[in-house]
Amino acid sequence: MRNRPHRIVIAGAGYAGMMAATSLARRTRRYASHITLINPSTRFVERLRLHQIAAGQQLAVHRIPDILAGTGVEFVNDRITAIDPVRRSVEVGGSWLPYDTLVYAVGSLTTTCVVPGAAQHACTLNGIEAAEAFAARLREAGTVAVCGGGLTGVEAATEVAESHPHLKVVLISETPPGSMMGPKARRHLYNGFTRLGITAMSGSLVTKVRPDGLDLANGTTIPTDVVLWTSGVEVPPLASDAGITTDRHGRVVTDGSLRSVSHPEVFAVGDAAAVRQHWGTIHGTCQSGIPTGAFAAQEIARQLAGRPPRRFRFGYIHQPVSIGRRDAVIQFTNADDTPRRWYLKGRPAILYKQLVSSSPIYTYRLAKRLKVSARLLASSGGKRNRD
Ligand SMILES: Cc1cc2nc3c(=O)[nH]c(=O)nc-3n(C[C@H](O)[C@H](O)[C@H](O)COP(=O)(O)OP(=O)(O)OC[C@H]3O[C@@H](n4cnc5c(N)ncnc54)[C@H](O)[C@@H]3O)c2cc1C
Repeated sequence: MRNRPHRIVIAGAGYAGMMAATSLARRTRRYASHITLINPSTRFVERLRLHQIAAGQQLAVHRIPDILAGTGVEFVNDRITAIDPVRRSVEVGGSWLPYDTLVYAVGSLTTTCVVPGAAQHACTLNGIEAAEAFAARLREAGTVAVCGGGLTGVEAATEVAESHPHLKVVLISETPPGSMMGPKARRHLYNGFTRLGITAMSGSLVTKVRPDGLDLANGTTIPTDVVLWTSGVEVPPLASDAGITTDRHGRVVTDGSLRSVSHPEVFAVGDAAAVRQHWGTIHGTCQSGIPTGAFAAQEIARQLAGRPPRRFRFGYIHQPVSIGRRDAVIQFTNADDTPRRWYLKGRPAILYKQLVSSSPIYTYRLAKRLKVSARLLASSGGKRNRD
């Protein structure tokens, strides 16, 4: 019979880790447990808004200790440098912190390793400092190239073009920008590009980033003062270095209850987890990350209560995309993120997008007081998935 508290360590205080922390605090109140949340910054990084910082906008600062106030969760402002799954410990600041349960929530980053010169000469949205460094470069720039036609590239290009109308903004991608959206939503997006003076060049594979331009596979060179790289994802190698089973992207492979298939005392959530559903594997979004954090908290509380594991179910509902501050488009989706017929544009879409971007902070506040259900947060999956 153990007489010490159950030690829960949460690695990373992003969208998923913060959801796990606030939810766990509420759900484990009546059990003897100790929760530690570890993150390298005291500021909660709203990745959903990093393109706004990149365009030079000032955002509200949310401090992690303030969000956690009153929960009893211990916050450690540091970076985990290693995991020892045999001794069940994480290395922080040169010492080892033991855990009984680890929640792996270290997120993901844009990788600049795929194209020569990108690591040296391109900016990224990998954190607040990186976004601010890009914003500073814009002050002396005449031309900006945004590489990557996914939603991050689209939001960054439109935000920069709207905030800096004197800049020439080029959006370069292999596949057409916003190709995951339906034709009507995409048309609205392209009208936005035209209005903001953005040149979209799709079918263009970048082969090299130079200090003053980009080389394309078709032999052309695009002169540019600043490059923003948004394509390609990597997950910190902590789990794979520790021998925890990961997929080829470094994401922890999970069972139906979000536990590592090799180390069931490790739950993996958010972008750092490879989570399979009946329709495929979840790709990293805040939309999916927050429900995984809430679900892991529920499952850990169930374990402490001696109850059997349950199955995580999730389905996408939307692709919310800002087109600067004065326009947006929301593509509603099937559970597997393929587009449905419905979409929103203009004023209703702007309001919808604002709600989506600000809702995580409110959800954490709510989770401190109430048992927020993961099934409710993953509402589409709860209704439509039948696995
Ligand atoms: C510009 C932009 C716009 C986006 N827009 C949307 C959108 O509209 N909708 C949507 O659903 N998704 C959007 N996304 C994607 C979304 O931001 C991510 O999917 C989401 O942040 C993933 O949450 P997470 O908690 O897994 O990781 P993160 O939010 O990245 O958090 C991970 C945390 O772990 C910390 N960490 C990393 N390594 C360590 C370590 N070794 N030790 C301790 N802590 C560590 C990090 O510092 C970070 O705080 C956008 C992303 C970007 C960049």
